[in-house]
Amino acid sequence: MSNLRDFREDFPILNQEVHGRKIIYLDSAATSQRPQQVLDAVMKYDHEANGNPHRGSHALSMRATEAFESVREKVRSFIGARSTKEIIFTKNATEAINLVAYSYALEHLKPGDQIVITIAEHHANLVTWQQVAKKTGAHLVYMYVDPEGRLPLGELQKIDQKTKLVACTHMSNVLGSIFPVDKVIQRGHEVGAKVLIDGAQAVAHMPVDVAELDCDFYVFSGHKMFSLTGVGVLYGKEEILEKMEPFLYGGDMIEYVYEEETSFNELPFKFEAGTQGIESVVSLGAAIDYLHEVTFEVIHEKEMELTEYALRRLQELPYIRIVGPKDLNLRGAVISFVVEDVHPHDVSMILDNYGVGVRAGHHCAQPLLRFMEVYTCSRASFAFFNTKEEIDALVDNLNEVRRWMG
Ligand code: PLP
Repeated sequence: MSNLRDFREDFPILNQEVHGRKIIYLDSAATSQRPQQVLDAVMKYDHEANGNPHRGSHALSMRATEAFESVREKVRSFIGARSTKEIIFTKNATEAINLVAYSYALEHLKPGDQIVITIAEHHANLVTWQQVAKKTGAHLVYMYVDPEGRLPLGELQKIDQKTKLVACTHMSNVLGSIFPVDKVIQRGHEVGAKVLIDGAQAVAHMPVDVAELDCDFYVFSGHKMFSLTGVGVLYGKEEILEKMEPFLYGGDMIEYVYEEETSFNELPFKFEAGTQGIESVVSLGAAIDYLHEVTFEVIHEKEMELTEYALRRLQELPYIRIVGPKDLNLRGAVISFVVEDVHPHDVSMILDNYGVGVRAGHHCAQPLLRFMEVYTCSRASFAFFNTKEEIDALVDNLNEVRRWMG
């Protein structure tokens, strides 16, 4: 595989020790680390261009506008949207989902309507719809996964004529399963529903083309794709966004303001009230450049190699139960597991002593874990910079965990 060592060297944070051991970061699904190129881009912006975009005609404000808007174009092209009017910057994926909930769903849903989601949704894409259902009188209907954590296509029949909105994750942050979102979107449209896809775990791992998918909304967070925290994206079809009311009110989202009335700015600014996290947006642009540099071919090949190796090695341990599909077909580089008789918080604390960082708990997916009768588990997630030696360290130190606690 081409110069992967070089890519690893792009991440300065990995060159340190914790508890006297070289750090092994296996929590990229929670937040990804930032390559030097992203950090440099933010520094350059702050050194050369910091100003408030869209608000001034002096040099720095104009440079800030150029920096900010050029990222919108990068995002548009990155996800294959038709127009920059369809790219709304938010704080994160959660805010993007809430924007759709407040500005679209609360306006359009009524008693007797149906919202369909999967049991595998992150709380961001579950609690939001649960609350919309409560407020509008719509029913919330779940599509359930099979014991392996896959979404059976038969579940899509729950998307029926009463369904006005479908929300589905592209890739589960717990199971690692990649869901058949193309089929979900197709079924949603057959019954006239709008479909939102949560791409928080997908965009850094596979090419996404929203025009080809034909989803109505697609959301993601920058911090899971190598940018800073504080920026997310809502993609929405222009004709739908055009008809939606603003979510937040304030500066920059207006056209004219009178004492009693206000007319709103055009898309996408109508949905971007107040000063945005400009450095975060700049970092997102640099993260997209970085992903292009690494390429999705390399990312996919490396992540699959690591996932295949980790699944094989973990299954050699008799006390490990994998939560999610065990074959590589249609899964990503997220592996949740239970260590028999050991609480996940103990697992992660002991592993941390050996420098290995994994996530523990309910992973913001309590209904899923309850449904899978797991309740709480550990999760290792990989980026292309991880190595097989790091997976060996995970496995060897799980033996230590079990020796201490089992
Ligand atoms: N959706 C999925 C599948 C996630 O994994 C996450 C975060 O873990 C989110 C949504 C929420 O992302 P954020 O906290 O950045 O809004």
